[in-house]
Amino acid sequence: MSQTPNFTLTTPDGIDLFVYCWLPAEQPKAVVQIAHGLAEHAGRYARLADALTSASYAVYANDHRGHGRTVKSADDLGFFAERDGWRKCVNDMWQLNRHVAVKHPGLPIVLLGHSMGSTLAEQFMGDHGDALAGVVLSGANGKPAFLAKIGGAVTWAERVRLGPRGKSKLVQSLTFDAFNKQFAPARTAFDWLSRDPDEVDKYVADPLCGFSATVQLWIDLLDGWAAVSGKAHRNRVPKALPVYLIAGERDPVSGNARQLKPWMAEYRAAGLMNLTHKFYPNARHELFNETNRDEVTDDVIGWLAQVVARSDRSAAEQHKAVAKEDQGCAGPVQSILAAARFAAEKHAQQKRKGENGEPYFNHLLEVAELIAATSPELDVELMMAAFLHDTVEDTGVTLQELEQQFGKDVAALVAEVTDDKSLPKEIRKKLQVEHTPDKSPRAQTLKLADKISNLRAIISSPPVGWSRERKLQYFEWARQVVSGIACPNEFLKAEFDEAYRGISKLKES
Ligand code: ZN
Repeated sequence: MSQTPNFTLTTPDGIDLFVYCWLPAEQPKAVVQIAHGLAEHAGRYARLADALTSASYAVYANDHRGHGRTVKSADDLGFFAERDGWRKCVNDMWQLNRHVAVKHPGLPIVLLGHSMGSTLAEQFMGDHGDALAGVVLSGANGKPAFLAKIGGAVTWAERVRLGPRGKSKLVQSLTFDAFNKQFAPARTAFDWLSRDPDEVDKYVADPLCGFSATVQLWIDLLDGWAAVSGKAHRNRVPKALPVYLIAGERDPVSGNARQLKPWMAEYRAAGLMNLTHKFYPNARHELFNETNRDEVTDDVIGWLAQVVARSDRSAAEQHKAVAKEDQGCAGPVQSILAAARFAAEKHAQQKRKGENGEPYFNHLLEVAELIAATSPELDVELMMAAFLHDTVEDTGVTLQELEQQFGKDVAALVAEVTDDKSLPKEIRKKLQVEHTPDKSPRAQTLKLADKISNLRAIISSPPVGWSRERKLQYFEWARQVVSGIACPNEFLKAEFDEAYRGISKLKES
């Protein structure tokens, strides 16, 4: 390991952020950016950084404002800012992230957050998830955030009583002091951090650790918890972002890891596909200072190796890789459900044209069902594209957005079946007839399923205001488009012919 000089980054509001930098002797294969926890500092991650640089990772870690060597005087310890402290801390991490991206162009950046740093990292996942190749969360709170239930009223009352820079014995007793209770009789006030007494003693002896946070910082932290607990936040996290949650099963901060399971469930419900975890029996809050820290570090390095290898592959390949690694079907099912949920939300306000006014989503579901029925082999990307095929044309989603969320393959499939809306309608229809023969077989399958669903709808729930003539024209045009499909799927072709026979009903009417 060759340590380069540490440096400072000056924030827009004039704070000099102190940044530790550890570089490997050879070219790094990726960067790990560390966000430390409350009442500690980034210098405490030197041992972890040593292991990471030995494994060819560059490591950057800033002391958050109000912490470590970023503070100018002891009075500033435990105080972020007069206003918007949470937002400012996340922006500081973003500033470091961009600095790293310039220093190491093209290298994947993984964010590792511990405790409060894990909540900051969670916020970062929603705000800047696209800039990350993965996230490691250690010592997280999970759900519910421990102080959140009673926190708002208490902290605001304490701020009135003590001022923003005041230090509240009451808040301290509800948090750090409460954490130590399950380890009674305790040797120190910080037995909850680790089973390793030497590590606890080092923390106690460190003047930059274990201080009481200001009332304002607790208020900022509660703001942060509230922000990351909302569904809107969870939905902003890129679905394919790999997240690795690690925790001690005797960590009081997460209720001995109990609060982490509902937390994971919420992220999975929001479509996160690559969320994995490891909980360590008997380990306490600071896994990197625990008695089994070498095991934890090896596990993180193993996970990083996978993530970095994967970041070279397309997101579409990731779906397959995840499915294989899980040796189950959770990966592909989650991917498909994530696409379905995305489409449901984007088309939420739209109805089909028919007199029955069905939700637009019913059309997407029908197309997906038709495709699922074509083959016993599950084509995950095609199923995802089935749900997403009208989002670009009808909801203003961009192909770039689809690529970021669901990978290149899925975005390319949607692109193949998306018309250029800048062209007049008649031209678009003509181009569909002309271009369909040149489409990929998967795009043709999607097209065919789409047309089947549309023909069926014209019969079962006729579009309001469509003349008999217009319906007949649509049938005829759909037939022309489909006739250009060179490698027909027998099942879908038969379904199309069946739907097309509805034309005789139209002619009779
Ligand atoms: Zn459609």
